[in-house]
Amino acid sequence: MWDFPYDSPSAISELLERNGFAMSKKFGQNFLLSSSAGDRIASSLGSIDGQQVWEIGPGLGALTARLLGKGALVTAFEIDHGFCRILREQAFADESRFSLVEGDALKTWMGVWESAGTPRAICGNLPYNVGSICIARLLEHQCLPPVMVYTLQREVAERLASEPGSKSWSTLSILAQTDYVVEQLFMIKGGSFYPPPKVDSAVVRLVKRDAPLVDGRIRELFLSVCSDLFSQRRKTVRNNLLQGESGARFGKERCLQALSDAHIVENQRAELLGFDELVRLANAFGSLA
Ligand code: SAM
Repeated sequence: MWDFPYDSPSAISELLERNGFAMSKKFGQNFLLSSSAGDRIASSLGSIDGQQVWEIGPGLGALTARLLGKGALVTAFEIDHGFCRILREQAFADESRFSLVEGDALKTWMGVWESAGTPRAICGNLPYNVGSICIARLLEHQCLPPVMVYTLQREVAERLASEPGSKSWSTLSILAQTDYVVEQLFMIKGGSFYPPPKVDSAVVRLVKRDAPLVDGRIRELFLSVCSDLFSQRRKTVRNNLLQGESGARFGKERCLQALSDAHIVENQRAELLGFDELVRLANAFGSLA
């Protein structure tokens, strides 16, 4: 196993220089230096010995090495071809439990999922620009491993874990919490990365629910109604519904009927609506369809 000092900024910059490349801001490349944070992230996945684990954005392999150390069979998705070369030829060249998928994870994950199925766990220190999109895609397509742990920009982590009534309660919170119990585990300060990003990060864990909060038969309708409700946060639920897909599909009268059947006050804001009310509303639309 490659014994690289992942906690040393000078070792990281020497490695990059030796291989003739610089980090790219475009890909959100900030390497985790803190070994205690790395250990906590790896242990928060639970037992992964002998299990398939996907890692998105392995970089130079700080978390990958820990996953392999815990016995996981790791499939890593990395966009940076230079890092891929280091991972494949130096870091994990002799590691039969490591496989690398080179390219944009947003484009490659689906093919791996179709051929290899859902892994036991997915994790990653996700680049800020792709973090929320990547998680949303997995959830939308119902690629639902028992556990996922992500290091994300604090604001994205808060959106995933937020509760009704909070300003970060959003379609992403609803999408995630339909299938998962989401908890923020701990914060990581910018200084724990190299180079330090301007914003703090947070680690979130998603543990799959025994049963989703929304019946599969109305899931699509539920998500479409939620997307309408949150489309403009300052508007009332009534206006958002009428001006969205729901208005176009059901017409004004039936939208107002559904709100009334679900006992939802028309002129309130969607951020106050919890799962019970949102499900009631989707069911009300369902029975009008
Ligand atoms: N996991 C490493 C660590 O914690 O030190 C690196 C984390 S760094 C914040 C993000 C990593 O994701 C980089 O290696 C970057 O090249 C990679 N990356 C960015 N966009 C990606 C994408 N769309 N698909 C796959 N990897 C991506």
